[in-house]
Amino acid sequence: MEKNIPYKIYLEENEMPKQWYNVRADMKNKPAPLLNPGTLQPMTAEELAGVFCDELIAQELDNDTPYIAIPEEILGFYKMYRPSPLVRAYCLEEKLQTPAKIYYKFEGNNTSGSHKLNSAIAQAYYAKKQGLKGVTTETGAGQWGTALSMACAYLGLDCRVYMVKVSYEQKPFRREVMRTYGATVTPSPSDTTEVGRKILAEHPGTTGSLGCAISEAVEAEQKLDGYKYVLGSVLNQVLLHQTVIGLETKAALDKYGIKPDVIIGCAGGGSNLGGLVSPFIGEMLRGENKYQIIAVEPASCPSFTRGKFAYDFCDTGKVCPLAKMYTLGSNFIPSANHAGGLRYHGMSPILSQLYHDGYMEARSVEQTAVFEAATQFARVEGILPAPESSHAIRVAIDEALKCKETGEEKTIVFGLTGTGYFDMVAYEKYNNGEMGDYIPTDEELAKSLAELPVVE
Ligand SMILES: *Cc1c(COP(=O)(O)O)cnc(C)c1O
Repeated sequence: MEKNIPYKIYLEENEMPKQWYNVRADMKNKPAPLLNPGTLQPMTAEELAGVFCDELIAQELDNDTPYIAIPEEILGFYKMYRPSPLVRAYCLEEKLQTPAKIYYKFEGNNTSGSHKLNSAIAQAYYAKKQGLKGVTTETGAGQWGTALSMACAYLGLDCRVYMVKVSYEQKPFRREVMRTYGATVTPSPSDTTEVGRKILAEHPGTTGSLGCAISEAVEAEQKLDGYKYVLGSVLNQVLLHQTVIGLETKAALDKYGIKPDVIIGCAGGGSNLGGLVSPFIGEMLRGENKYQIIAVEPASCPSFTRGKFAYDFCDTGKVCPLAKMYTLGSNFIPSANHAGGLRYHGMSPILSQLYHDGYMEARSVEQTAVFEAATQFARVEGILPAPESSHAIRVAIDEALKCKETGEEKTIVFGLTGTGYFDMVAYEKYNNGEMGDYIPTDEELAKSLAELPVVE
């Protein structure tokens, strides 16, 4: 039975999770292993050691340990900006006149403006522990680069960020935040790497993509002594770190005896969604409970809803291992008019397997509908949401409106991954009525999918 629910459910410090939850331990069908792009054999820990830190490789390959202790130092850092609130959206419910009960887990209360700091601090911590000098990475919209810069500044590590060129130019303030935290930021593709020069030669004038920036960051890491590469989404280790979101959400709901019916998250590479839903899907995998889980993606980059479940390259330069995932093909670049983030061509192998096995559904939404939901939310709940997060808001509102028609009092929980202060160019377009929707044609998708690697 529900008790009187406050607007914000906070956990006490001593109620915060002390372990991450590894959903792979409960999956019957494990996510497929990463493959070596040369031999097409599963990547060994030794091979991965060329790119990643040892402890993170152990986490990446661990399909069996259900709970992994969060080191004290990371817990201490988490306590600086966590626990994050689980908010009952009473004001939105009132505005929508819905009998549904809506909750959101807000991850935007730190300078990166997103959930990405949860994994950034973990990855930087293990790099530091291994005695490294620094790390290289890519960033798209800039949240991951910012989060990593913050974590590296705290731990005294050097941070080199390859930032997708269009964002570098459109979001100079995001770049400056990273530099304030001591990071070096290079627009990608750049002429500082071989792969960058090759991409520039083949696609002059390109504004870049995450896939290109990943290739450059990996090449940079391999040429620098004492550096490793880190990635902000997609990988198993990142989903693992992000489970603090879901574990806190579950603990907060349990405190008041609330059982969600529907859990919704936006899906770019899958890290926030995976982190939010892992503890709930774990219950489904163990046969203890049932939930409706919805992944929301942009109609202009629809990996779950229109992609293929196949091995693909994680980057444009094809230097990274292959992952089996829902993908649009590593050469797919979303239309330049797409302003809503979530632009990566692939999806977390863990979530891909869970989706394939029927534990989640997926919806794609058009960006004007996303910004409409963002604006509606901002005006009643006070928070100016990130465009990425607004994909989840869109579907949460749609579900609440359905409840209004049917009279069902469903409990809806969604992930509000961050704030949108650096996305005002996109909001400006929307406010001026200049934002369009772009949905790739079947021919366009077939073209990039035809270039998937052949893996027996
Ligand atoms: C990066 C980001 C996302 C998407 O990444 P996932 O790995 O799919 O979670 C969503 N929201 C915000 C605010 C982000 O910064």
